[in-house]
Amino acid sequence: MQAVQFTEHGDRDVIEYGEYPDPEPDRNEALVDVKAGALNHLDVFTRGGLPGVDLDMPHVPGSDAAGVVEAVGEDVTRVEPGDRVAVTAGRSCGECEFCRHGEHSLCESYHIIGEHVQGVHSEQAAVPAENLVPVPEGIDWETAAAAPLVFQTAWRMLVTRADLGPGESILVLGASGGVGHAAVQIAEYIGAEVYATASTDEKLEYARECGADHTVNYEETDFAAAMREATDGRGVDVVVDYVGPATWEDSIKCLAKGGRLVTCGATTGPKAETNINRVFWKQVDILGSTMASLGEVDDVLSLVWDGTFEPKIRETLPMSEAARAHEMLEEREGFGKVVVVPDSER
Ligand SMILES: [Zn+2]
Repeated sequence: MQAVQFTEHGDRDVIEYGEYPDPEPDRNEALVDVKAGALNHLDVFTRGGLPGVDLDMPHVPGSDAAGVVEAVGEDVTRVEPGDRVAVTAGRSCGECEFCRHGEHSLCESYHIIGEHVQGVHSEQAAVPAENLVPVPEGIDWETAAAAPLVFQTAWRMLVTRADLGPGESILVLGASGGVGHAAVQIAEYIGAEVYATASTDEKLEYARECGADHTVNYEETDFAAAMREATDGRGVDVVVDYVGPATWEDSIKCLAKGGRLVTCGATTGPKAETNINRVFWKQVDILGSTMASLGEVDDVLSLVWDGTFEPKIRETLPMSEAARAHEMLEEREGFGKVVVVPDSER
């Protein structure tokens, strides 16, 4: 089969699309005929190499995909050949204390398809059956592939971790990214007052289409000052920050007293300074969040399938142009998700 792959970590030029051994499903896995995949910033980090993650090379990247089940291992009862499915990338053991409590993304051996093990940006993929979510007829493959990772991440952040309620206010930084645009939609669905930042007026227009009530162009304005003014000095109840050191201090400034800062990543680096005085005086919570439990995945994807939420597709490219897809993410071009489709499906 053909697969996106790289044999060493590095810049975008390490990415190739070519022949790769056909995957053989294990007894608990299904073989999926991949119709579409979607990129996440994680793919860029994985390509560059992550500390402590030692990959088998060549590595096939990709955490999001959707397609049709072609065959199943002998222990699989959850899906059968012909089923339309989407991949949810989090792998958990099912046996540790956290899994026993249904907290799969806290699993002691938690890992992510495409990041720690072979991914799904290929013509076929062998995926554990519990990582497959049924996709109803009528949902196009781009939507099915683009939704799982970012919508589950945003759902757990806002619903489970930050416990965002109707009438509360929320600031979503980087609203044009995959997680950001999902967070805006979920916040609007909850009934919150949604503030969003992005780098261009065009992206802000998309953010408004997703449900943002107020937008701030962070290239033109100091967003913390703009938020202070917009909220009459009060600040917001929740801030979503997956940017990291470039925004961290300002994110805490934007919080109202008793507010919650929730983070699921740090695209500008892992270390930021925190003014501790601000944390205790304002009595704010700093909340981490990663992926989601399988139940949360089912909850949020059912709201994608019924049309409540809609992943915006930035561009759909053949898998042979995966390097270009990485460039779009790294250069922050456009709004929403970049989809890749096997060249044979084009
Ligand atoms: Zn576990």
